[in-house]
Amino acid sequence: EGAINRIAAGEVVERPASAVKELVENAIDAGARRIEVAYADGGKTLIRVTDDGCGIAPDDLPLAMSRHATSKIDGSDLLDIHTFGFRGEALPSLGAVGRLTITSRVKGQDAAELRVAGGKTDPVRPAALTAGTVVELRDLFFATPARLKFMRTDRAEAAAITAIIKRLAMAEPSIGFTLRDVTGGGEGRVTFRADPENGELFEALHGRLANILGREFGENALRIDTEREGLRMTGYAALPTYSRGSSVAQFLFVNGRPVEDKLLFGALRAAYFDFLSRDRHPAAALFIDCDPQLVDVNVHPAKSQVRFRDPGLARGLIVSGLRHALAEAGH
Ligand code: ADP
Ligand code: MG
Repeated sequence: EGAINRIAAGEVVERPASAVKELVENAIDAGARRIEVAYADGGKTLIRVTDDGCGIAPDDLPLAMSRHATSKIDGSDLLDIHTFGFRGEALPSLGAVGRLTITSRVKGQDAAELRVAGGKTDPVRPAALTAGTVVELRDLFFATPARLKFMRTDRAEAAAITAIIKRLAMAEPSIGFTLRDVTGGGEGRVTFRADPENGELFEALHGRLANILGREFGENALRIDTEREGLRMTGYAALPTYSRGSSVAQFLFVNGRPVEDKLLFGALRAAYFDFLSRDRHPAAALFIDCDPQLVDVNVHPAKSQVRFRDPGLARGLIVSGLRHALAEAGH
């Protein structure tokens, strides 16, 4: 099964940032309030995600590491997916392409540890941990040298990790995120930090966006809150008078998942069409939420594409929702 795992792993884990994404999504699913991500050498030698979530019981550790094992669906309702993880692929894939150690503790139980390297699993051992889960991934792709070649410079991989953390942090303002570069060992250096935002939805989101996109964006952002035939769009979009110059800041989420979807980006551009001479990439962080039955976010395991049952409706929601908000603000 090792070889099968390694082949399948390439689908989920393309580079350090995709490993970070899977691990942080697991921490979010586990109900974490604080998540710390540490990496060394662009994540190539070390990725460590620490959370204060629900933990994994010692008996469940081997199960969490087996392919297609997930605690998140019961099999009867494959379409009705509310959590991030639903494939049960991430941990076994990471264990197939790197040296993975999971240390975890469920409240009221003993902490335990499980190691997997190159697809080979050790027995569960007792460990020391006060709460939550620490997943450590060392030497990514050591077992698949061909994949090593596809990694870019440490700097580029670190930038990709930072970008994915910021995206996930936007979608979860109430969770605190810390990103640390521990290259060379020791405590390392905090490269990004977002404290948990309290307050109601928009207030929390506004605070988080100001942290990530800058105070100036916060001061020039319109609150968006609109609904159309079962699709809801919330978030913030920049006033047409605000330009970030060459830096693109467009973030779209569908049911909490970051997506990069041509249709949705096209709709965003269309909404700002009259103002595009100023900024071809209007800054925005928009969250579309709907019944999971209306959208397929599982088009490809590692790609953040979506397929709406009614693409025209999604486009219309963005275009008319934004135009309406812009008009109300006098544009
Ligand atoms: P999926 O997220 O698709 O269920 P994964 O391979 O990512 O699959 O994780 C397998 C299982 O391990 C999860 O369903 C969950 O029960 C458990 N798990 C993984 N990471 C964590 C975590 N940080 N905290 C608690 N449980 C976790
Ligand atoms: Mg997962």
